[in-house]
Amino acid sequence: MTHSALPTQLVWFRDDLRTSDHPALNAALSSGPVIAVYVLDQESAGIRPLGGAAKWWLHLALADLRISLGQLKIPLILRQGPAAGIISELVHEGSVQAVHWNRRYGHAERAVDMQIKQDLHARGVHAHSYSGTLLHEPWELLTKNDTGYKVFTPFYNALRDDEIRPPLPAPQAQEPLPDTNLPASDELESLGLLPALDWIDGLAAQWGPGEAPARQRLEQVLESIAEGYADHHDRPDLDGTSALSPAMRWGHLSAPEMWDALGRLAAENPKAAAGATAMRRQLAWRDFCWHLYYHHPQLPERNLRAQFDHFDWAWPEQDPHAADQVRLWQKGRTGFGLVDAGMQQLWQTGWMHNRVRMVAASLLVKNLQVHWKVGERWFWDTLVDADLASNSANWQWVAGSGADASPYFRVFNPELQAKKFDPQGSYVARYAPLAAEPIVDLKQSRQAALDAYEQMKLIS
Ligand code: FAD
Repeated sequence: MTHSALPTQLVWFRDDLRTSDHPALNAALSSGPVIAVYVLDQESAGIRPLGGAAKWWLHLALADLRISLGQLKIPLILRQGPAAGIISELVHEGSVQAVHWNRRYGHAERAVDMQIKQDLHARGVHAHSYSGTLLHEPWELLTKNDTGYKVFTPFYNALRDDEIRPPLPAPQAQEPLPDTNLPASDELESLGLLPALDWIDGLAAQWGPGEAPARQRLEQVLESIAEGYADHHDRPDLDGTSALSPAMRWGHLSAPEMWDALGRLAAENPKAAAGATAMRRQLAWRDFCWHLYYHHPQLPERNLRAQFDHFDWAWPEQDPHAADQVRLWQKGRTGFGLVDAGMQQLWQTGWMHNRVRMVAASLLVKNLQVHWKVGERWFWDTLVDADLASNSANWQWVAGSGADASPYFRVFNPELQAKKFDPQGSYVARYAPLAAEPIVDLKQSRQAALDAYEQMKLIS
């Protein structure tokens, strides 16, 4: 075991794989020599293991982070296992004086962080946490009754622009640390993040995970996409949205930085003001999902409206017919072009347009009456932007079981949605050129869903 000569500052990277606007990194750099760590923790109690597409993204994002940190002369150490043990080892191996991290908001993750903070304090090591991921800390924005918000619009109205922290100045490179004293790092390949499946070719063709590609895309959004966003954001056939959700999920870009950039665009370019404001509103939805999850830690597992516990959902494990239908839905062979194109887009690229996510989810939970958790798990495994808060809050929104959910009787008609939002059929032609036989009658299944809802109300 080696010991660093100098007391060091350890920055623990988690969902914030970037060097710009990184409060923990900036604070550490102003305190002394810095080393950085990423811990792949799939074992601590309650932490949901990453899905396949997310692991692929993470592999490339860590390679990119190592380069960005290298430019600042900061070594990145990779480790795998329960975070508490690893942080404790590193504190010893690296003569660490203080550990810095940007906060996470999941229930299990917070429990891990709290335990580590206590352990560090007990050993006389400082632990500093910062707000680096959201526009607002979920406990700061409260209703008059001091509770979390359950409805988006009042939450959004309460988000005060002047209370969102401005982005930080770019960090300066530090003096290089002597290599001999550094704690050892695992090889990136040894983390086993790359899947053996062939779908990574499609993901690689679509995305460049990391900070620089995210920043380039933001520039493009500000230059040419924001202006049309208010009109085009529901059109999957156009490149009309930011497509920055994976960059936000992995923290290649901070929410305050994107918020700030959109605000400046709105102020400087009146033609882009409506679009930039509309995009800010979507960014606020991301915060709202984390806000809900923070205040309702059961969000990924349980209906927020307990009434829905009495809904007669189908589960593929218990019902062979539902199992067949779920398989066809996953493969994009439902016979509804927009849904099939979306599910193919998801499989091929790890991403799906928001409008299509809503329509595909509605078909599963309403027309097929399959539990939203079945869809949430599939998205979790296949989305490169999968995050527990946005995924479960949006699934519960579509299912009607969420706090601020779409009314149950709002059953999307995939054929009408296709006419409206893919008017030339080019999105469907691109991802689902071969039409399949519809697996369900839209009218009958809509009525059956409404009947099941009435039934649920009678017994709940
Ligand atoms: P833009 O329209 O450009 O919006 C800007 C940013 O705002 C996005 O990058 C994203 O960070 C945020 N945002 C936009 N819409 C939403 C929303 N409805 N909820 C939360 N944040 C939003 N988003 C995820 O990031 N992870 C998920 O796991 C996820 N699962 C979803 C599941 C379902 C069933 C549905 C209906 C939506 C889900 N979303 C999820 C939300 C949304 O579909 C994606 O964030 C969106 O498609 C991202 O596209 P964009 O980056 O072009 O968004």
